[in-house]
This record gives sequence, C-alpha cells and structure tokens, in this order.
Amino acid sequence: MQRFVSHPSRNPLSLSVAAILMISSWSAASGQGAPTGNLQGSGLERAIAIEREVSGIAARGELWPGFDLLSIPLAIYTGEETYLFRHPAPPQEFELVPRQDAWVRRAPGRYPSVSANTSVDLGGVSTATLMAENRAISPARCAEIAAHESFHVFQRAHHPSWSGNEGDLFLYPTEEAGGLALRRMESVALANALAASEDAVARCWARTALGHRAHRFAAIDSTFSRYERATELNEGLATYVELRAAERVSPVCPPGEFGATAIRERCYWSGAALGFLLDRLRPDWVTELEVNDRGDLDLMLHEAIAYIGSDSICKLSRAESDRLFEEAKRDVEAVSTQRAAAALAFDTLPGWRVTVELPTDAPLWPQGFDPLNVQLVDGGVLHARMLTLANDQARLEMLDTSAADLVALTVAAGAHPLWNGISRVTVAGLGQPEVTPDGDGLRVTAPGLELRVARATSQTVGQQIQISTTGKGR
Ligand SMILES: [Zn+2]
Repeated sequence: MQRFVSHPSRNPLSLSVAAILMISSWSAASGQGAPTGNLQGSGLERAIAIEREVSGIAARGELWPGFDLLSIPLAIYTGEETYLFRHPAPPQEFELVPRQDAWVRRAPGRYPSVSANTSVDLGGVSTATLMAENRAISPARCAEIAAHESFHVFQRAHHPSWSGNEGDLFLYPTEEAGGLALRRMESVALANALAASEDAVARCWARTALGHRAHRFAAIDSTFSRYERATELNEGLATYVELRAAERVSPVCPPGEFGATAIRERCYWSGAALGFLLDRLRPDWVTELEVNDRGDLDLMLHEAIAYIGSDSICKLSRAESDRLFEEAKRDVEAVSTQRAAAALAFDTLPGWRVTVELPTDAPLWPQGFDPLNVQLVDGGVLHARMLTLANDQARLEMLDTSAADLVALTVAAGAHPLWNGISRVTVAGLGQPEVTPDGDGLRVTAPGLELRVARATSQTVGQQIQISTTGKGR
C-alpha cells in the first residue's frame, strides 16, 4: 500500500513520505497461497486469470460498505508486461488487447510506477498495483492481495485519518521486555477469543486482551499507542477485507507471535483480529465506523463488552505468563545483537557499492521507503527493498527486483533516523555501475539503481564508488 505521512520537520521538500509496502507478510508466511495451476501460462493468461478471480470476489458480495472492488483500477506486472484493467484514462503506453471476455490493456515491461503490491497514482487515477511475477502464487491469492490494495485506495479517499506516522515506528520502545510480554499475552487472549465457540467466552477473553493492552499502553508514550491504533485501522482493516475476500473469518497468528521489533506487521494481524471479534460482538461496527471514522477498533470492542459482566475467568496460566516473560526478555536482548550483526552483514555484502556523502546541513530527504523492509541497525537504517531520496541537488532511486538484490544503508543527519534527513547513503549488492558526466555532476546507473548528483565528483577504489558534493544543495 501507499500512504503519505506528514509530520513536523524542517524538510524543505514538505516531508511527505510515500511509504510503499509489500502486503500481507504475516499471512503469506503462514502458508496461504499454495500454487494451483497456471504456473506456465503467458503473462496475458495470468493477468486475465487474476482479474477473473477479482471479479469472482466482487460477485460474492460487498466486502465493506461502499467499497466497490471493481471501481478501482488494477495494474498487474507479470514479469514480462504490465496489464491494466478497468482504468478510465489509461496512459498511452497501454495498448488495447481485445479479447472476447475482457478489456485488457498492456504496456511492455514493468510500467515504472508499478513496483510493489501497493496503490499508486497511475495516469491521474488511484490504481491498485500487483507484482505477479511469481507463478507459485495462485491467481486466487493474487486477487485477495488486489482486494487488500484496492481497499487502501478506498481508505485514502474516504478515511484519510486511518494512517499511522511511519516515523514513529523508528522510535518505538522495543527494548522493553515487559511491554513485549504483555503484547504477547494480549495476542494469546485475542486468539482465544477468536477461537471461542460461545460468545460469552469470546467476550471474556476479549476483556482479558484489552486489559493487557491497557497495561501495555499505560507504559508507553501515547505516540506509540496512536501509531498502533492507526495502523490497525489502515493495515488491519485492509487485512480484514483481504481475509473476507478469501472467505475466511479469522486471521492466523504465527507461531511465537511476532518479533520484538515487528510492531507494524503485528498490526496487520491484531487489526484484523479485532475486526472479526467485532463482527461477532458488535455486528453493526462496520456501518458505525463508516459513519464515524474517528473510532479505534480496540475502543469499539471495549464499548461492546465493558458492561457485560466483570469477573474474568479467562486468564493465562502462571506458567504461560512466566514463559512469555522469559521469551520476551530473550527476544529483547537479542535485538541489539541482531542490529550489530545486520550492520556487519551489510558491510560484507559482495558486489559493487555506491556511497553518497552530503553535508549535514544539506541532507537528502526520504521520498519513499518500504516500512516493512526497513531495519534499524548499528549506525543507521537498512532498506532492503526500495528507497527514494532527494534534495535539490541529488536524487537516488533504489528498487530491489529479481534482477538486482540490493540493500541501502542510510545514516541520519539528525536525531531521528530518517526525518531529520540523510547525510550518507550507501547502496550495496550492485552490478558494476556506469558513471557518466551529467552537467556539472554525474549520473550513476546499475540494475535497480538510478542516481543523479549535481555539483559532484566521484572516486572509485576497488568496487566502491564514493561520491562527494562540491557545492551546497538545498
Ligand atoms: Zn496494506
């Protein structure tokens, strides 16, 4: 999905950050989407098969009040071409491919703005985009992902407040073992509530879950509870819609719950879990939320259960609580080790690397990154999938594709890992880049990398290209 996050800063480029996501990491990891035929078909056949599945989902009924899945254009990259369906004003690169059963448009190769499972402005229209090169992912599964991404388009148009500030995630207090243990106790209680066969038992466990959440949120700054609640509305509800598209009524929590730093990933699950519990305990919640979108899912659930009884018999056993605390302690301790190890692994990645150094008073600003593929490490932030940085002097675009396995390390110019700008960026894992003069600066290109820097010089030592600016950017 794509979102725009605004927040106070001195970024002269307005600090809107297009945070572009791969979707459904947790559900994909839980084993859905096994291959079901059509592994060898052409790109056209695959795109048509996916579109047919999307139509089938739409035909089964409304997934959310007012959300018309087929009203949102869909672009599908199949590895060979990009296909476009139901777009009211297709860019001229997309030629009509007349068929008996569908109006399909096709552009050669990967259309530039189609680079993730997300939603983008394509020809002036918000369009869901799918990366469908991997034939092991069935057309049906691709269509469920399309429902998720299309719902994000609906959310942006109708509920723009449903979006967390991704910058807050970098400062989340992940070093607190007690908070992590409470989070996992909350998850166990939520899962028990979802699995309960009787409504009274579901309520009882839901109350326990919300009790753990209340303790957890009381111990952290409201910035972070706000982030979780907003992300549950954003990604949690998109996941809820995706699961409904798959005709499922409950999300699956992965074994061991989620990692200590996987705050965002967990919101996909917890938001969907809250949605399905609300289906059961507050059946009109979707309509209520559609009318007043300032509600939070956990608070809506709280209202639905708070006045029904009070003595909870739904408690985790002492042994289970102790185990969760011990695991949380271990996991939190491992975070700093992992951050050091990831930084070291980056330093030793094979291939060419390009580094751009900027003065701290004229840093690069993040324009786009993928919050599911960033990692705080010793010395900066690793970006494993995509990154766009720019200022008046330079622009860097990195996209990890099947043709290029790239990682970038950004070094902060100020206190926040990204929001105060980037004073140094290194892209590693490159094939040999081409460095060409570009006005008073230079252009560096390699598969997956496009970099232009004005007023700059470069120096190559071995497989390392160092770029320094010779004049001030703004
Ligand atoms: Zn999403």
